[in-house]
Formats: sequence, C-alpha cells, structure tokens
Amino acid sequence: MNFTVAIDGPAAAGKGTISKAVAARFGMKHLDTGLLYRAVGAKTLAEGADPVEAAEALRPEDLDETRLRTSEVAQAASRVATLPEVRAALVAFQRTFAQSDGGAVLDGRDICTVICPAADVKLYVTASAEVRAERRFLELTAKGEAVTRDGVLEDVRARDERDMNRAEAPLLPAADAQIIDTSEMDIDTAVEAAAAVVQAALDAR
Ligand code: C5P
Repeated sequence: MNFTVAIDGPAAAGKGTISKAVAARFGMKHLDTGLLYRAVGAKTLAEGADPVEAAEALRPEDLDETRLRTSEVAQAASRVATLPEVRAALVAFQRTFAQSDGGAVLDGRDICTVICPAADVKLYVTASAEVRAERRFLELTAKGEAVTRDGVLEDVRARDERDMNRAEAPLLPAADAQIIDTSEMDIDTAVEAAAAVVQAALDAR
C-alpha cells in the first residue's frame, strides 16, 4: 500500500512529535526532512563544506539526530535551505521515501506544497511564535544548552522570517491542507486531531 501523509509547519509547532506518533500508530515509515537540511548545514559549519556539494553527497550516516539538534545547526539549516540547488539535490530521496511500502509520513516545510502535492493527507501544524519559543526553550535547556528565553524567541522569529520569505519553496500552508493550531492544545490532543484526519482518509480509500 502507498499512502502519504505530508505535514508542514514552522519550528517547534509540534509536527515532529505528531509525525512520529501518527507513523507509529498506523505502522508507516517516518522521515523528518528537517534533518536533511540540518545535516547539510552542519557540514558547512564543521568542514566549511560547499552546501550544494554537501547536499549531493549526503549519506544516511550523516543524519545522526542528537548531533543535529542544536540551535546553531538549525540556523545553518535554514540558511542552506534557501539555496535552490540544495533543495533540488534532496527532492528525489524525499519522493522515493514518500512511496515507501506500507505508507509514509514526511514532515517539513514544503512537503504539501512541493515534495508531495498529491499526498493522501496534508496537514499544516502551527502555533504562535511565543508558544513555540517556550517549547523550544524547555527542550534546549533540558539538553543543557545555555540559552535564554529571549534568545530562543529571536531565533524562532529569524527562522520563520527566512523560511516564510525565501523565493524557493517558502513555508506556507497548501491551499488544501488542514490546519492544526497547537497553541492551546496539549500534545496528546494534537496527535489525536492529526490521527483522526489520517484515519478518515484511510477509511475513505
Ligand atoms: O524542521 P527543522 O527545524 O529541523 O528544520 C530545520 C530547517 O530546515 C528549517 O528551518 C528550514 O529552513 C529547513 N527545512 C526546509 N524544508 C523542509 C524541512 C526543513 O527548508 N522540508
């Protein structure tokens, strides 16, 4: 069975948690596409690599999640993500993944709009910048990163600004995406809302 769930949204809106939970519930594969851009960004930081060459040479072992979850790497990711050649180098991998047998959940910024416009389910998961910054602040401090609330809010806003206003594949809700605003939802409620949409689409098949 091929069944694609595409989930877009800004940083720290809850789409990572929702995507993982939905994939586990329906036995589908999950790809956090942000990791691809983070891995390319990390290579430019660590090795001064050319971003396009880094994207073209990306290997599965470059996607080690723990190393890539810092705010410095997040900013580098959103910078390399503005480059059309970097995005182009990552398209085929994502589209092949979307066709995984048994179904696939992909989350990112342009999954509904560019990578999988014909996905079976399209969701846009969002929340206010303040709520997202608070969540990210708690996440980063729990990992021991020395960050401040104001600094994290500034980072979230800078990344939103870059992701929403770039010329190539800007972050925006697809016209036919269902919007889930998690500003006032706990994560379990948000997961249930997303899972209900997926279940309805599976039932309608
Ligand atoms: O989702 P995450 O915060 O890990 O993404 C890091 C950065 O990668 C984003 O800020 C965005 O610039 C970029 N990205 C993208 N397209 C995607 C996924 C992530 O441009 N599909």
